[in-house]
Parts: sequence; structure tokens; C-alpha cells
Amino acid sequence: MADDTSRWGFETRAIHAGQEPDPRTGSVIVPIYATSTFAQDGVGGLRDGGYEYSRSANPTRTALEQALASLEGGRHGLAFASGMAAADVALRSLTRPGDHVILGNDAYGGTFRLLDKVLKLWGVEHTAVDLADLAATRAAVRPTTRVIWAETPTNPLLGITDIAGLATVAAEAGAKLVIDNTFATPYLQSPLGLGADVVLHSTTKYLGGHSDVVGGALITSDDELNDAFAFLRNASGAVPGPFDSWLVLRGAKTLALRMERHSDNAERVVEALTTHPRVTRVYYPGLPDHPGHEIAAKQMRRFGGMVSFAVDGGEQAALDVVSRTKLFTLAESLGGIESLIEHPGKMTHASAAGSPLQVPPDVIRASVGIEDPTDLVQDLLQALD
Ligand SMILES: *Cc1c(COP(=O)(O)O)cnc(C)c1O
Repeated sequence: MADDTSRWGFETRAIHAGQEPDPRTGSVIVPIYATSTFAQDGVGGLRDGGYEYSRSANPTRTALEQALASLEGGRHGLAFASGMAAADVALRSLTRPGDHVILGNDAYGGTFRLLDKVLKLWGVEHTAVDLADLAATRAAVRPTTRVIWAETPTNPLLGITDIAGLATVAAEAGAKLVIDNTFATPYLQSPLGLGADVVLHSTTKYLGGHSDVVGGALITSDDELNDAFAFLRNASGAVPGPFDSWLVLRGAKTLALRMERHSDNAERVVEALTTHPRVTRVYYPGLPDHPGHEIAAKQMRRFGGMVSFAVDGGEQAALDVVSRTKLFTLAESLGGIESLIEHPGKMTHASAAGSPLQVPPDVIRASVGIEDPTDLVQDLLQALD
């Protein structure tokens, strides 16, 4: 399917890949196929499309999967009930008891929790390292290492990892490289083209883009890996329903426009924060003094809508700021059209407390939305006063 659409530009693929008008009615928009099962013409006589039962496949979900695969430049896409369901299926497909996983030392808290509190019980080991340091990553490789799991930019400290460099380390180790591309989105960064084996998304975030759905995805060009993921997803059942699939598909159509505006607005916010006397540090890969800036500039189209910053006065000061914003809503999650703010140490990353993934207590994370940037800057300035 990616072959048919790969000559199209990104915005065209977002709107058309996997999304032919409905063959029966001409419905321009892919319908929400709210059905659990499909009539057969005689036993085993599946109709066009080969649909049988909606855990295995559903046409609305298929459209989403083809669109996501096309956007990431991959051969296969699989949609899941959440980003964590996608992570669970990826990790359980790629490892067996005794195997080892390397992940970043500021990985998404839920991914760390899955490895540390669940997969460990089944004998899958893990090591958290600074993946920006390729030598340290190489040093963490064991004979049993099967997976290197990376996010770039990372959550919440916006660290940058060299995807092509990591792909080399993974290949040398005989391990698969999985990139969680949730923060960058396929519009800003294409990990498969840089040598990654698998891309993961929490489509809950920018792909859905409107904070109205929870979902996940795995994209790969490796037929064997895709078969293994599809098998386990069908066996374990964490599939998105047709309405949720449709919401993500609808959101993805405007991803390019939204990411441009998220990036514009984040730049405005960063400019205001870097000159504010109470802000002690701004984490944004677009800043020339960010340690990963050069790599980010090379592997990303722009720097995205996520901005973290530290304030003087420690944890209490950070908690005060996040409770004083009016436009930035105090909430977990990110990537929606509306601006959100949170305290990772006490909220999204609370489960990492006491671990190597613990987030500094004075750090605040902002998901900069697509509102009028003047209003957003004003809101942050009044919260910092
Ligand atoms: C939210 C998120 C996840 C988990 O996705 P859910 O849809 O919440 O299950 C994984 N990785 C990153 C980077 C995320 O932001």
C-alpha cells in the first residue's frame, strides 16, 4: 500500500492514503463500520476485503492502519487500543524470558513501568541508559539484548537521540530498534528511513490531536515483525474500536497543519521563557545550546510543540506555576489543539520516583497548543509572576 502512495507528499497521504471513497455508497469519508462481525457467503466464504470478525480486522481500522503506514513510510501499520497496548504487544513479540531490553533513562513512565513492573516478572530484563550517549548505549548491550527502545525527543526532558547512530548500535547487537515517535510525529521525523525497525505511536497525542481518543500504533516494513505483532494483537485483543479508529484517522488529516502551528507557538513560548528571570532552564531541541540541537536539526523537520522548563524555588514553585495558568489546562497528556501544563514529578512520571528515570522536581512540562500564541505567552507570564 505504501507503494501506491509513496510518490504523494505528506499532506496528500494524510488525506488520501487508505481512504478511497466507500465502494458501495461513494461516501467520501471512510465510514465508521460499527459491527463486530461480517456475513459469510457459505462457510469460510468471506466477502471482498476478507473481513470476518472485528478483533481481527475492521474496515475503519484498516483505513487508519494504511494511512499511518503511509505517513511513516512503512509497509505495515497496526492500530491498538492505546499506546501502551502497542508497546506491550511490541515488547512481548520481540522478547522471551531471559532476554534484555535497553531503554532511555528518561523514557515515558508507562513504558518503564511495563518493563519494570510487568515484563520483569516474566524474566525480561532491562537497562535504562542515556541513549544520547551512543558509547554508553553500546556498553549496555548484552548477548541477550533483543530490543533498543528509544524516544526522541524524550518525555519530559526533550533529550535527543541520533536515530541513525542507534540503528547502527542495534544492528551490531543483533537487536531491533523501536522508536517511540509520539512526540515528533511522522510529520516531523521519519525513523524508518533512518534505520529503525519499528515505529510506535501513542495516537492519543498528536496523531489524534484533539484530546478526544486513546489509541496506539506500530508501523514497520519488516513482514515477519508485522506478522508477529498482528498475531499477538489478535491473540490478546487490545484493538481500537471503529469509532476510535475513525477519530484518529480524522485527526491525522490535519497533522501537518497542526504540527507547523504547534512548532510556531512553541517557539514563541520558548522565546518568552528563555528571557524570564524566574526560569532557570528551558528544554527545547530548537534552542542552539540544547545538547542535541544539531542532531535534531538533521533528523527533524521542525522541533515540535513540547516545551519543558525549570523554575527557581524548587518543587513548590513549580507546583504553584502549574496551578496558576488559566489557558494552559493542568492535565496529563499532550499533543492536542489545546495547551496543557503539568508537573511530571508528581503527575505523568510519578511512577518513576526513586528510579533512574525520576524527573527533577523543579521541572514543568507544557504541551503548547494551537491557540493565539500571544495569549499563551501572556498566560505563562502571569503564572510566573
Ligand atoms: C502517552 C504516551 C505513551 C502511552 O500511550 P497511551 O496512549 O497513553 O497508552 C507512550 N509513549 C509516549 C511518548 C507517550 O507520550
